[in-house]
Amino acid sequence: MTSDEFRKHGHYLIEWMARYMENIESYPVKSSVQPGDIFKQIPGDPPEKPESFESLMHDFEEIIMPGITHWQHPDFFAYFPANTSPPSILAEMIIATLGTQCMIWETSPAAAELEEKMMIWLRGLIGLPDCFEGVIQDTASTATLAAIVTAREKVSDFLINDEGATSAGILRVYCSEQTHSSVEKAVRITGLGKRNLVKIPVRDDFSIDTAKLKEAVEADKRNGFMPCCAIATLGTTGTMAVDSIRAVGEICAENNIWFHVDAAMAGTALILPEFRWMIDGKEFIDSFVFNPHKWMFTNFDCTAFFIREPALLIRTFEILPEYLKTRTRGKVNDYRDWGVPLGRRFRALKLWSVIRSYGAEGLREKVRYHINIASCLSKMIYQESDFEILAPVMLNVICFRYKPAETDEKHLNNLNEELNHLLNDSGKIYLTHTMINGKYTLRMVTGQTNVTMDHVEKAWVLIKNTARNLKL
Ligand SMILES: *Cc1c(COP(=O)(O)O)cnc(C)c1O
Repeated sequence: MTSDEFRKHGHYLIEWMARYMENIESYPVKSSVQPGDIFKQIPGDPPEKPESFESLMHDFEEIIMPGITHWQHPDFFAYFPANTSPPSILAEMIIATLGTQCMIWETSPAAAELEEKMMIWLRGLIGLPDCFEGVIQDTASTATLAAIVTAREKVSDFLINDEGATSAGILRVYCSEQTHSSVEKAVRITGLGKRNLVKIPVRDDFSIDTAKLKEAVEADKRNGFMPCCAIATLGTTGTMAVDSIRAVGEICAENNIWFHVDAAMAGTALILPEFRWMIDGKEFIDSFVFNPHKWMFTNFDCTAFFIREPALLIRTFEILPEYLKTRTRGKVNDYRDWGVPLGRRFRALKLWSVIRSYGAEGLREKVRYHINIASCLSKMIYQESDFEILAPVMLNVICFRYKPAETDEKHLNNLNEELNHLLNDSGKIYLTHTMINGKYTLRMVTGQTNVTMDHVEKAWVLIKNTARNLKL
């Protein structure tokens, strides 16, 4: 592709992108293709001869777009959002154009230093103490893995990195039953073993039962196990429950346990002063992760990982082959030593663009609005006697179900599952489910960048009408 062709296609593409954003609501939210539909339309062999960009775009529209689920549709209420925004997209274009590989300071000093500063900005925005240092990771799963490996090395006095996983006794990791699966994945990968992940029951509000955590830690110590790491969650995946940082932190401090906080989704709400209570007890935290790529309008991927003692993280991950030795080593942050991958994208530029474009006030306004519309929706659901709210609405997740008259639980589960599929297949809205105490629960998240009260009201009418037309 020549420079002139690039320019021409680039202008066309910007136009395409702007139109997509303007017309997003004309697409069905959830793709309705069947398994294999897309695969069978792509030729079995790559082309031998060059093809034009026009033919690529033609096939993109015809073949790919029907198989896209539109995460940026304001009627996307499923999972947790993976938001983007125009300033983020523009920065992503620069990142791709520069194509820098930001593994060490010398491979792009500006990337390393902007990252360092962006982590300081974010730290201030969410109210973490100044002693924390941050690094951008690809996902919360990777950051949590980095935290648990570091905890493992700290507890084993850096023995396991050298001698292998069995060399330091049996290490135990604690989290609640509602904790994200990335914790279990990390415990498996680190060689600590799934059976040494102790899942603590939750209270009625789905937050970790800290009395039970304390008992579990004490029992483990009596039985010769070595407590290693505990994970508290701000905003669990199922119901957005908030664990008590102070209560878990105190148990960690008493027992020399690494304290990792997974705030992947709800961390963004810490930019609001009225939600800072969620990190009461922050002085106990060793590491903390949240995802600007979920609810802070920065397109995937961009995870912020904070650590109180980066020296422990670096000592855990550092590995120094000859070809990576530099004269600046020790004077600068070489982020390759701060996690699993060597190669790193220039993600800080997206954050810089998003934060400057919205301003802290603009970010706060949007996040606060999302929380407000969740609260309004929960009130509307509460008013209908044939619907039931199944978990406290803390932030912007509403867990509810349709519950007409007296029906048995099994029938209610089937009914709500059918309702969920009908709603999603309509293409008008998209929501996902969770199970709460055996109850099939609809789960609606009001966190898409452009969602408004209007979208939520229309969605609620659709949900009510669809439910009341079900055959009982
Ligand atoms: C989304 C989520 C994760 C996983 O995030 P990734 O960045 O996709 O790895 C982990 N924990 C919680 C609480 C989450 O909401």
